[in-house]
Amino acid sequence: MLADKDRIFTNLYGFQDWGLKAAQARGDWDGTKALLERGPEAIIEEMKASGLRGRGGAGFPTGLKWSFMPKESRDGRPSFLVINADESEPGSCKDREILRHDPHKLVEGALVAGFAMRARAAYIYVRGEYIREAETLQKAIDEAYAAGFIGKNACKSGYDFDVFMHRGAGAYICGEETALMNSLEGRRGNPRIKPPFPAVAGLFGKPTTINNVETLTAVPYIVKHGAEWYKQFGRPDNPKSIGTKLFSVCGNITRPGNYEVALGFPFGEFLNDLCGGPLPGREIKAVIPGGSSVPILTREEAEGAIMDYEGMVAAGTMLGSGGVIVFDDRQCMVRQIARLTRFYAHESCAQCSQCREGTAWITRIMERIRDGQGTSEDLDTLLSIADNMSGKTICVLSDSCATPVVSGLKKFRHEFEAKIAANPSRVTVPGALRASAA
Ligand code: SF4
Repeated sequence: MLADKDRIFTNLYGFQDWGLKAAQARGDWDGTKALLERGPEAIIEEMKASGLRGRGGAGFPTGLKWSFMPKESRDGRPSFLVINADESEPGSCKDREILRHDPHKLVEGALVAGFAMRARAAYIYVRGEYIREAETLQKAIDEAYAAGFIGKNACKSGYDFDVFMHRGAGAYICGEETALMNSLEGRRGNPRIKPPFPAVAGLFGKPTTINNVETLTAVPYIVKHGAEWYKQFGRPDNPKSIGTKLFSVCGNITRPGNYEVALGFPFGEFLNDLCGGPLPGREIKAVIPGGSSVPILTREEAEGAIMDYEGMVAAGTMLGSGGVIVFDDRQCMVRQIARLTRFYAHESCAQCSQCREGTAWITRIMERIRDGQGTSEDLDTLLSIADNMSGKTICVLSDSCATPVVSGLKKFRHEFEAKIAANPSRVTVPGALRASAA
């Protein structure tokens, strides 16, 4: 169990003030100048040694990602750091707490990361619905400018670094890194085909690294305490399972909320002890452990899983963003999955036909089954559409829509079949899908 003294996110619940004075009392902006004096290479090496992996979902090693940025500018072109605060994944609400209760940690992290990558500026892209969070973040940025921590000669280091806060307009797809950059540039938020990768041609065509809020917030703490200190947290038998991570827990659970946990913690203990287990008289039926786009686990699978990247893969799912959604035995899984597919159908940017058509078809069929109008043919049709939606599109939104359908059908097929069996006219009608989809 993580001791309070080892927590990185010390004001996650907002018990203390978010402002500069209180942040400094918690250790933020302490020794930042000395940290920068170590130089960009030393900071990147420290981050590589720490083993920190991106906390937004992909889990790519942070220090390695930074090392892809050019060490010297070609043709005087600037490079940029982009911070993804467009947290919109159903089940995930951890970055929100950092933005409103601990924004100085993020701004300090932006400076350290930007310096290490020789970036000229950071753009923090905040989800449109996060109105109060954006206001707080902007005030923290203003305070950091006024104190001389960022801007010209940041922290008296001789390095100029600006931080801009940009608010999105509420589109989920703008959390995809290339769509986010398009949106920042004032274009429609459509994902771009890669390559070119952002480190070569990103924001405004310049070398760019995109990091998640939680990832960057952890950076100053790790560099100040050292990689060896950070590596004490995690699973001893897995060298890739290092550090602490935030998990957001929602749904049918006694103590929902955000938790900072050392990676490698047993998921069963997390759900039943830390989060208090199911509500009185209920049983957990299913768990989505990493945001709505990862495969669903049964209770037994969840209780046997380990909370790190490899542990979740071994359980047949992914750690993702750490957005945990719990369903108890009152929930109809067909209804819950139909709700997720409706979300993805609404958020598709419609560039790829597999996604544009697939998310809509799969949603219509799911809702038809949910409403007791399904036919015996529908289950195979769902799997066929899901197969055509996976691994074939510009970004993974299409896969994200297909995933809960496939894993839900695999693990809760009996609920789908019961819904179909309740339909008095469930006999397959030739062309039923086409008629339904028209
Ligand atoms: Fe847009 Fe969907 Fe294609 Fe992603 S997969 S680019 S959201 S159409």
